[in-house]
Amino acid sequence: DNGVDLTDPTVGDSVAPRQLGGPLVVLDGVNKYFGQLHVLQDINLTVNQGEVVVVIGPSGSGKSTLCRAINRLETIKDGSISIDGKPLPSEGKELARLRADVGMVFQAFNLFAHKTILENITLGPIKVRRTPKRTAEARARELLDRVGVANQADKYPAQLSGGQQQRVAIARALAMEPKVILFDEPTSALDPEMVNEVLEVMVDLARQGMTMIVVTHEMGFARKAANRVIFMADGAIVEEADPDTFFTAPKSERAKDFLGKIL
Ligand code: ADP
Ligand code: MG
Repeated sequence: DNGVDLTDPTVGDSVAPRQLGGPLVVLDGVNKYFGQLHVLQDINLTVNQGEVVVVIGPSGSGKSTLCRAINRLETIKDGSISIDGKPLPSEGKELARLRADVGMVFQAFNLFAHKTILENITLGPIKVRRTPKRTAEARARELLDRVGVANQADKYPAQLSGGQQQRVAIARALAMEPKVILFDEPTSALDPEMVNEVLEVMVDLARQGMTMIVVTHEMGFARKAANRVIFMADGAIVEEADPDTFFTAPKSERAKDFLGKIL
């Protein structure tokens, strides 16, 4: 849309929202272990309504576990996580509703292979939100149009490119009308020429005020869309700052070292 290369960290004015609402996702003293491994270490994080938070850090630092904990795909040992003022439910209908409120877009596209693109998008709204089929389909077509794959509705995932599939995955998350969307390295499995088309959709969401937590090493995207960058290492939040400050003047040795490797 803007013709800007979002994989280039040196470009573009920020579209990060300036007017943020109140706390939407709140993690307070969260700890998690895998056996002996202390994978989330006393994580305190508040993401406000409309905020775009980019999470970066070395492989194995706990970024995916953090996302999974927020969606309750992982349980935590202590501390608390709340969404919109409510603690995460542990089971049943409440949990299904939580997963609808907290959209997730993964590295691998995770579409249902044996359902059409349209069915992939309408399934959640029909089952979880109890949206009538025709309404869900009309809304799905709007969303496919919004992410630029309107004419793929009746195809199957394998017939689409990786970039198209990932845009469908974003449309599927949006169809649930989530309060926040978590993105876990959404472009890292894509061929390079498809990265930008997915980042552009994400920038548009940011511009429209969607609350987003985005694990990515795409610094062009962070510069353009993030209000805040969180740097994780060894399960802890080591540093956080606005993207300009973080990328030009990181404070910790860990962050300097990491940026030196990826820049
Ligand atoms: P990141 O996304 O930052 O690469 P992860 O959250 O995937 O990091 O993993 C953090 C650490 O937890 C890594 O050391 C990883 O090997 C370990 N880990 C992740 N999932 C599991 C699991 N299900 N069982 C045991 N260890 C795990
Ligand atoms: Mg990960």
